Amino acid sequence: MDLPVDEWKAYVLQKWSLLPKSAQVAVSTAETLSEIFFHSSSFLQSEDEKFLKRLSQGYLVGKDPKAPCFYREEGNKKFQEKNYSEAAVLYSKTCLNDIIRALTHGYPERLRPKLLLRKAECLVTLRRLKEASQTISDLESNFTAKPSPAASPFQILQENLCCLKMKIQGKENLPETFPMTLTKDFEGVDLTEENEEISSASSSVCLCTDPLKGRCLIATKDIVPGELLVKEDAFVSVLNPGKMPPLPQGLESRWDTRVTNGDLYCHKCLQHTLAMVPCHGCSYAKYCSQECMQQAWELYHSIECSLGGLLLTLGVFCHVALRLTLLARFEDVHKVVRRICDEINNKDVCLPESKSLVETFNYCQGEREEIGEVVQTQIPGCNLNGKYENNYNAVFSLLAHTENHSPEHKFLCALSVSALCRQLEAASPPALTTGLKAAVTPELCADLNVWAVAMLRHLLQLQCNAQAITTIQHTGSKESMIADSGQVRLATGIFPVVSLLNHSCSPNTSVSFTGTVATIRAAQQIKKGQEIFHCYGPHESRMSGAERQQKLRSQYFFDCSCPACHCEEPRAAAGPRWEAFRCNSCRALLQGDDVLSCGNRACPESISRNHLASQVQDLQQQVEMGWKLLRNGKLEQAIMWLLRCREDAESFLSAEHAVVGEIEDHLARAYAALGDWKKSATHLQKSLQVVEVHHGSSSVEMGHELFKLAQVLFNGFAVPEALNAIQKAEEVLLVHSGPESGEIQELQKMRSCLLGLPPITGVSPRDFAP
Ligand SMILES: [Zn+2]
Ligand SMILES: [Zn+2]
Ligand SMILES: [Zn+2]
Ligand SMILES: [Zn+2]
Repeated sequence: MDLPVDEWKAYVLQKWSLLPKSAQVAVSTAETLSEIFFHSSSFLQSEDEKFLKRLSQGYLVGKDPKAPCFYREEGNKKFQEKNYSEAAVLYSKTCLNDIIRALTHGYPERLRPKLLLRKAECLVTLRRLKEASQTISDLESNFTAKPSPAASPFQILQENLCCLKMKIQGKENLPETFPMTLTKDFEGVDLTEENEEISSASSSVCLCTDPLKGRCLIATKDIVPGELLVKEDAFVSVLNPGKMPPLPQGLESRWDTRVTNGDLYCHKCLQHTLAMVPCHGCSYAKYCSQECMQQAWELYHSIECSLGGLLLTLGVFCHVALRLTLLARFEDVHKVVRRICDEINNKDVCLPESKSLVETFNYCQGEREEIGEVVQTQIPGCNLNGKYENNYNAVFSLLAHTENHSPEHKFLCALSVSALCRQLEAASPPALTTGLKAAVTPELCADLNVWAVAMLRHLLQLQCNAQAITTIQHTGSKESMIADSGQVRLATGIFPVVSLLNHSCSPNTSVSFTGTVATIRAAQQIKKGQEIFHCYGPHESRMSGAERQQKLRSQYFFDCSCPACHCEEPRAAAGPRWEAFRCNSCRALLQGDDVLSCGNRACPESISRNHLASQVQDLQQQVEMGWKLLRNGKLEQAIMWLLRCREDAESFLSAEHAVVGEIEDHLARAYAALGDWKKSATHLQKSLQVVEVHHGSSSVEMGHELFKLAQVLFNGFAVPEALNAIQKAEEVLLVHSGPESGEIQELQKMRSCLLGLPPITGVSPRDFAP
């Protein structure tokens, strides 16, 4: 997804292997990015471009006039299957907003109310009550404005409308005022004291340089868990399109009814939305509002619009690189040019020797002399006053590690950028000069090659500096009452300030996202003078030490020496408890490498690791089957199946084994779906123990699990237990995601609802939610 599609990658690598030796050597030994770019791009031939074009055409990104009809029908089918969330998305593919706009221009009036009612119903089912209420009041004003004829379809509509309104009122029962005691503690530190040297960071940290590690953030005072340290909007972000392979050519089904991220989140601000406003020029860019569409158009989409298929083929990193250079046009270009020229002198990036650039170059030289030596003593990325800001200058200063990438990879990146630039030129001749702000010098922008080299730099930077923007996605709320939440990767972004943090496999902070804004909070006490760490992905609870070292070396080019990696060795032999096996005859834990023997000295049992590994694999397949039964609503069957799995698991896995946790979690879901809250809570508590051993008692994973427990106990009206679970979940989640997070808000609503309940006398959960 980040890199180009496999077909293009394979094609370019094939091309590389057929290059004359001298050309390969030229690319391998090139010292500057511009040399790499010009040595590589001279090999891009028109047949290569044709091949790339064919790949790009596999993606349906243009507008098709027949599409709305098709999606409406598919939406109706999903609606009848009671698959509301997919139906809602498919309806929004019919561009409800387009239809409403069309209605004002004499579109058949009778189509509108029915569609609106369907939309409202979907929204109620999805508990998006505000939007549903809005849709309903739109509908009502539609009725009152024109007294409805006695025709029956309208009466049915109105009856449906009444039902819907009652449903909404039922769901709105939860009072809106919730205790603010806990959130208050955290509001005080909400970046009210912004750092003077680093934008978007709190004054509790400062920017330092370390001869070995480069830039880093250090605590300037003692920091408490949950304290907000960085709150930064992405300088650039590109929505990951989600899994959507191109359709084979000539396939009968012309439209895709699969729902992906691109259908659920605004391409500009990443807000979740069901009624999308699509771009007028393409079908892949969709927005939450007219404003987002307008902004995106002015900032970058006017140029990206016609390139959809190509950008999907070349991958998200290429897209981010292009968007970065497009955004650079709006910054103080003098600063940017100066930055690029600094890089020339440092032999890191070089500009082409074209005439217009020689002028630019001379211009920079003049500037540099005026500034004198100040530039040399700065921390990279800071402006002349020593301030580090979320801007293009800071992005440009992120390390590209040019010397560490393989020559083939550099060739692939350069060729992709080159192809993209040729398309840009072909699509709209002065693509980069149109719609520019007055500040931009025409010489600079007219020369696409400068931007090509800049794009190549960004492409190489991204491997180490791209930040995955994630969100908690709730699915499966229909069959199971427990929110099935999982972290999903939503977009790829660049956050210059977050990028200042170094990696640790057991970081002292936690990151979360709201739209395109990243927040970093202390996950534990951090003493004055200690470094602030962030995890780049390989976390000690998810990967073994050897795996982490390998990953960090190949992707980020460094050897990790974090505390977790330091003290890994002695623990490695026994393995973590969430991967431990136990003896079949005496139940003691097994020990050893290839052949495991029983920890109980009196017991002679021994067994090969390979055998145990295949046993785990078989069990996982069985658990998967149980999960499928559960998803298909065969609850009793699922429970029987999963209880058998648990029995099997108990015979050879430790009680804290990750697979045991999974089984308990599934059982909890199954019982919750049957309305047996007590049993559900019992199983959830067992799964909670596994999560605690695996991720730690104050981990975000623990927070999500406690949240589920709170939901189950709430639904079961176990008031004291529910309040207790709410409190625990809140304590953990506040540290990781702060008071504005959706989960915290829901916990607070649950609490105030429980506290405000009349004494319970014979109230069943079903009476509560009509
Ligand atoms: Zn938006
Ligand atoms: Zn477009
Ligand atoms: Zn480490
Ligand atoms: Zn034994």
